[in-house]
Amino acid sequence: MAILKIVKKSTDEEFLRKKSRPVEQITERTKTLLDDMVETMRHANGCGLAAVQVGILRRIVVIETEEGLFELINPRIIAKSGEQESEEGCLSVPGEWGITRRPMNVTARALNRDGEEIEIVASGLLAKAICHELDHLDGILYTDKVIKK
Ligand code: ZN
Repeated sequence: MAILKIVKKSTDEEFLRKKSRPVEQITERTKTLLDDMVETMRHANGCGLAAVQVGILRRIVVIETEEGLFELINPRIIAKSGEQESEEGCLSVPGEWGITRRPMNVTARALNRDGEEIEIVASGLLAKAICHELDHLDGILYTDKVIKK
């Protein structure tokens, strides 16, 4: 496993704004990338990381909360409801936080590393993390959504 370099908004915003492409086939390289992303996220004390943040434009994210570790390939949100306002930060924007408005509840579907379709029913922090990480795949940063600093 390896700790990867995290792309920062301050120096590489143009890259972070690119749209990630779907994973067509899950290979050993995909699994190594997932392992490295988890290690990188934990090393940086983050609760989520998208592949674009380590320089790879593929629709892959990892999220870790008290509810566990989630490795999501080609994730999509299929339902959302409610609203929460809370503090948010990003490993690509170190040292900054802002209040955002996100759905309180989110249902997401994705493939796991074995290529099986999984569904996550999330609320609170996990719902926020899913929204944040999926936004990265479309070049959207939480700083676009800050309602107060
Ligand atoms: Zn982020």
